[in-house]
Amino acid sequence: MRAVEERRDELIALTQDLIRLPTLNPPGDNYLEICEYLAARLKKRGFATELIRAFGAMGDSDKYPRWNMVARIEGAHTGQCVHFNSHTDVVEVGRNWTFDPFGGVLSDGKIYGRGACDMKGGLAASIIAVEAFLEICPDFAGAIEISGTADEESGGLGGVAYLAVQGYFSPQRVQHVIIPEPLNKDRICLGHRGVWWGEIETFGEIAHGSMPFLGDCAVRHMGAVLEEFEATLFPALAQKRTDMPVVPEGAKQSTMNINAIHGGAGEPAPDYTGLASACVPDSCRMVIDRRFLMEEDIAEVKDEISAVLETVKAKRPNFRYELREVHSVIPTMTDRDSPIVASVASAIRDVLGVEPQYVVSPGTYDQKHIARIGRLKNCIAYGPGILDLAHKPDEYVGVEDMLDSAKVMGHALVGLLAGDD
Ligand SMILES: [Zn+2]
Repeated sequence: MRAVEERRDELIALTQDLIRLPTLNPPGDNYLEICEYLAARLKKRGFATELIRAFGAMGDSDKYPRWNMVARIEGAHTGQCVHFNSHTDVVEVGRNWTFDPFGGVLSDGKIYGRGACDMKGGLAASIIAVEAFLEICPDFAGAIEISGTADEESGGLGGVAYLAVQGYFSPQRVQHVIIPEPLNKDRICLGHRGVWWGEIETFGEIAHGSMPFLGDCAVRHMGAVLEEFEATLFPALAQKRTDMPVVPEGAKQSTMNINAIHGGAGEPAPDYTGLASACVPDSCRMVIDRRFLMEEDIAEVKDEISAVLETVKAKRPNFRYELREVHSVIPTMTDRDSPIVASVASAIRDVLGVEPQYVVSPGTYDQKHIARIGRLKNCIAYGPGILDLAHKPDEYVGVEDMLDSAKVMGHALVGLLAGDD
């Protein structure tokens, strides 16, 4: 705890430096710069560092290369490897900021900026925790890895997923993973719900808008789908409850969002000042985002949507549709008695003097790739910051929260790697 406390100024400076590198995604700016910054720092502390570009991954291009950094330090004895994984990308700034989103301003014990809590503060806290641990336990057993990875905010294919395919996250190489996402310093996040994104398209027939009876309106067909969703699907989803400790409470059930509907004439070009033409829409598309539970099967989730569409088809003449899958992620949850959970839980008790809360995230994060591709189950999210501030204006991370969580992470490292010899 002393070793972390002594690094307070360094922790602030590191967080500010990271925020001042605007790693906006999309498009994926400054990925190489932030990786080089991290590698230079960790090299000085004795880490072997690698910069890895996710060649050919979705989103990777010569203009916007997807760079990742992995650093590793070996202990004096053989043992297990603890890996801290943070994403380096941040989402767009948006409006209504009162602070410079890339200024890293320190005010009243908080550091402001896009990515401050999600998750450059967590990245900085984990680096300080590891550096403090190395000072206290230079002859530890095992190994420690720190990675900074791309594209978490856009699915992680050019980041953790790519590294997992390359073997960086595998049970042979890594035994414990902590992802310092902003979940509050007394909470351990065991995993997340699943995702099924689909696109429904209904078809009609184009005709003159003054004689709609000569055509067939795809938007009205989609209206019938929406009505069926309201009448049967949404009430059914509200009945499906989970034993996963999902927060907030509203996400303890199956949910579905309608992300978008597009039908009929497209938006006119910005320089066009006339009226649109009068046509019956011959196509309407709807994107749905269904979040599902450990207790549900992904095949059932798809079948449920198909069943709604078939019901509408049976009732409605000329109803034609297509259902396409856009994206899917299965739910994942680490056991409460797994070693990483037990170590961080006892560190929270020792450092903060409170009982840890065990939670599950409503949305997904990079744990999905570590679990599915890496087949590494011993993984949690634990880090400083308030999740509600993520992606919002005047995002910040509290300095005390970062210090506290760094102490917890350092303490957990002592439990996992200090050993007796
Ligand atoms: Zn994040």
